[in-house]
Amino acid sequence: MDQEMSYGSDYKFIPATSIGSGVGVTVAPDVYCHTIQIVNIGLIGAPKSNEFVLIDAGMQGSADDIISLTEERFGEGSRPKAILLTHGHFDHVGAIIELVEHWQVPVYAHEQELPFLTGKTSYLEPDPTVEGGMVAKMSAMFPNEPINLGESVQALPSDGSIPFLPEFRWIHTPGHSPGHVSFFRDSDRVLIAGDAFVTVRQDALYKVLIQEEEINGPPRYFTTDWHAAWESVKRLEELKPSAAITGHGVPMSGDHLSNGLQKLANQFDKVAIPDYGKYI
Ligand SMILES: [Zn+2]
Ligand SMILES: [Zn+2]
Repeated sequence: MDQEMSYGSDYKFIPATSIGSGVGVTVAPDVYCHTIQIVNIGLIGAPKSNEFVLIDAGMQGSADDIISLTEERFGEGSRPKAILLTHGHFDHVGAIIELVEHWQVPVYAHEQELPFLTGKTSYLEPDPTVEGGMVAKMSAMFPNEPINLGESVQALPSDGSIPFLPEFRWIHTPGHSPGHVSFFRDSDRVLIAGDAFVTVRQDALYKVLIQEEEINGPPRYFTTDWHAAWESVKRLEELKPSAAITGHGVPMSGDHLSNGLQKLANQFDKVAIPDYGKYI
């Protein structure tokens, strides 16, 4: 794995934080969610075991934090079996090259996300004109050029299974990005939803604010296919998740989650789809 890996040429540190930064929440005994600035990562696997994976790879410059967090939970010198990506947006792959170099582990993502992870295709530009206040305006500075993970990244198996995570399956939930996936465990109905929906107010995403809980559609400035995004939310709602970790905001569970998700699935056109913007 010593071929050249590189971040996109517009890679940069994004000065944004939330009050959740540095905080972790246990969602199930073996499912842990931790907030890096404004984005969440997941660690799945029993604490102190050697069988675990990392979901998503945080913000730019967060590799040392992720490594020490991992060692705290799983033991000194521990490393995940793999890094699984919900998608390849800058705030989910910010530390991935340092992590792959440090751990020498494979990365898995959906086949349709690979062009954005192997330096071939840029994401469409974030839309700073979309309805969404401050965050939307700020999105003009968000990187959208592809990173190149070379041969370190490979496609998830087409049968829905996930390497090193036999109890979970992946579900294609496009719309926010073409190869966006969510991860689901049928036995306890734990869902890792990435950015298919989020549990924080959109205008609070990138600000130092209380991240008031509110189920919301995918982050607007990057979502380019709203029809697919709606279908994805309906698919996730049908799973009746008992608990959900999303890419942004605190994990939610129980009635709070099911009521919010049902409302989002039913009223996605009113709640999630912005009134204006160039990808509407
Ligand atoms: Zn995203
Ligand atoms: Zn995100």
